[in-house]
Amino acid sequence: MDNAVYLDHNATTPLRDVALKAIMDANAGGGNASSVHRFGRLAHRTLEDARERVAALVGAKAEQVVFTSGGTEANNLALLGTLAGIANRRVLVSAVEHSSVAKIPGVETVPVDADGIIDIAALDCMLLAADTPSVVSIMLANNETGVIEPVAEAAAIAHRHGALVHCDAVQAAGKIPLEWSALGVDLMSISAHKIGGPQGVGALIVGDGVEIVPRTFGGGQERGRRTGTENIPGIAGFGAAAEEAKGSLDDYRALAQLRDAIEERILKISDKARIFAHARDRLPNTAMIAMPGVNAEAQVMAFDLAGVAVSAGSACSSGKAAAGSVLKAMGVAEDVASNAVRVSLGWTSTMADAEAFIAAWTKIYAKGQVGAEVPAA
Ligand code: PLP
Repeated sequence: MDNAVYLDHNATTPLRDVALKAIMDANAGGGNASSVHRFGRLAHRTLEDARERVAALVGAKAEQVVFTSGGTEANNLALLGTLAGIANRRVLVSAVEHSSVAKIPGVETVPVDADGIIDIAALDCMLLAADTPSVVSIMLANNETGVIEPVAEAAAIAHRHGALVHCDAVQAAGKIPLEWSALGVDLMSISAHKIGGPQGVGALIVGDGVEIVPRTFGGGQERGRRTGTENIPGIAGFGAAAEEAKGSLDDYRALAQLRDAIEERILKISDKARIFAHARDRLPNTAMIAMPGVNAEAQVMAFDLAGVAVSAGSACSSGKAAAGSVLKAMGVAEDVASNAVRVSLGWTSTMADAEAFIAAWTKIYAKGQVGAEVPAA
C-alpha cells in the first residue's frame, strides 16, 4: 500500500511481514500436503504447524480447525453443512449479520435494538415458537459498527432449545481476546485477511461431535469436511499472522485511544454528527460516523482525494456500499444512514493517521454545510 492513510482495516488489512515470509517460504518448499514424498511431508508439516497457530489464536484444538477459502465459505459451510438433510430445519440469524450469513437461503431474522445488539428475548420466543432442529448464527463483532454481540448469553438460550450455535468471529479474532470455549458455541468462522494474513484463506472451528456434511466432494482433505488441495502458502501466511496477532492484542486494545480521539474531535466540530453504538462495547478499532449533510459515497471519494481510505459500510464485490442493511436493522433513518462512513484502524495506524482523518473530515464537512459556520478541528 502507498503512503495514503489506510483506515479500512475491517475491509482488509495490510499483509504482515511475517505472513509474507511464511507465504514465500511455503511456496518455495512446494509439494502437495497429501503426497507421501519429502515435498509432500514438508507441505504437510507447514499445514499442521499453521493449524496449531490458528487454533491458538482462538483457544481451540488444532483438530477443530477446518481450513476454507475465507470467512464467507466458513459461514456457508457452518450454516449449510449442519443438520443437513433435515427437512424442517431452521436457520435463525441476527438482523445485522454479514451477507455471507444473511443471504443463506431460507434464513429467519432475529431483530436487534437501536445499537444493533441482538434481541435475546425475541430469539428465545422464535425458538420456542417451533421447537424443530435449528441452527442459530450470531456474529461476535459487527463489521460496520464494531459493536460486540452477547454471543455467550444467546448461545446458552439457543442451547436450551437444543439448537446448534454458530458465531461469525471474522471481525473479532485478532482484535479482542477470544477464547472460543468461553463463547459456548458449536461452530466459529475466522478469516486470515482481517488479521494481517492473505486474502482467500479462512477457517471454520468445529466443536467436538458436531457433524458437518461437506459442500465439496473430492479427495477428502480436512477430515472430509472441506475437500480439495489445501492452499499451503495462504494457510502458512494465516498461521504466521494469527501468531503475531495473538501476541499483539495489547497494541490492538490501545487503538481505542486513537478511535476515541477521532470521535471526540468530530463531536466537538458538529453536535449533529452521529456515532453508531457509541456507548456500547465495541471493537477498539471501529467507528461508524454519520456526517450531516454529506452523502457517504461523496464522502468516501472526498476522503480518497485527501489521501484517506475509508469505506461506506461493508465492502462488497461491486465496490459500492452494501445497501446499509445493518443501520436499517437498527432503525436508523434513511437520511442519516446514507451519510454514514466507517473508519477502521489497525496495526499500522498512528496518531498522525487519526489527525489526517480529522483534518479531512473537517474540510469535507465544512464544504457540505452551505452557508454554515464550522469550527476548526
Ligand atoms: N463475516 C464478516 C463479519 C466479515 O466482515 C467478512 C468480510 O468482510 C466476512 C464474514 C467474509 O470474510 P471473507 O472476506 O474472508 O470471505
